[in-house]
Amino acid sequence: MTTRVAVIGAGPGGYAAAFHAADLGMQVTLIDAEPNPGGVCTFKGCIPSKALLHAAKVLDEAKHAGAFGVTFGKPSIDVDKLRSWKDGVVNKQTGGLGLLAKARKVEFVQGRASIADGKTLSVDTGKGERRIDTLLQQSENLSGVLGPLLRTEPIEQCGDSCMFWASARAATFLPTDRPPQCAKSNCTMSQARSAVSR
Ligand SMILES: Cc1cc2nc3c(=O)[nH]c(=O)nc-3n(C[C@H](O)[C@H](O)[C@H](O)COP(=O)(O)OP(=O)(O)OC[C@H]3O[C@@H](n4cnc5c(N)ncnc54)[C@H](O)[C@@H]3O)c2cc1C
Repeated sequence: MTTRVAVIGAGPGGYAAAFHAADLGMQVTLIDAEPNPGGVCTFKGCIPSKALLHAAKVLDEAKHAGAFGVTFGKPSIDVDKLRSWKDGVVNKQTGGLGLLAKARKVEFVQGRASIADGKTLSVDTGKGERRIDTLLQQSENLSGVLGPLLRTEPIEQCGDSCMFWASARAATFLPTDRPPQCAKSNCTMSQARSAVSR
């Protein structure tokens, strides 16, 4: 297939660029490993964390409402239901972004892209390779919006046991999960990350 503009990475940077190019009348292909546009923000970061924070805020407000004479019973938390509600919020948002892409005639390709040569992308779709040819010079038409790079740096002093969940792990928590711990008080991101993978 041939496209005019190819954007790799459909996070807030990538889908905004793709939508803008489409609004300017260009033929656009947007590529991401996830099933819809949204990126880290919508699938793993801003949106799921705020959905869970909202639930926590409701619990906290109920706990303190006794101060103005409103009391509730002890809350029970159905973790499976909480998680599926959070997933529903994410699916609604990312599905909506998928519809916005369709409405603009942006072709969304799910897969992991790599640059084969100056004008061609190779996308591993999981069901085989898809080649995407672009029409202009590389600098004019290949855009990569792949999110922030991970850096290894010390986490601020966090007590004797450093409680750490990477965001993707936290967003897919299981009822039996406990935050992993790394032994050192001044653990680095890489130590914390290896604690997460244990
Ligand atoms: C827990 C958490 C909470 C956050 N909360 C907020 C908040 O409240 N407000 C806020 O403004 N920001 C928040 N952020 C930050 C926000 O998520 C990022 O700033 C934002 O997602 C960056 O957008 P982006 O488009 O640069 O990249 P990303 O959203 O990281 O998207 C990059 C995309 O590129 C794709 N990709 C990478 N390589 C390839 C490849 N080779 N082929 C195909 N696809 C590829 C990835 O699958 C990903 O979908 C939060 C982040 C986290 C982790």
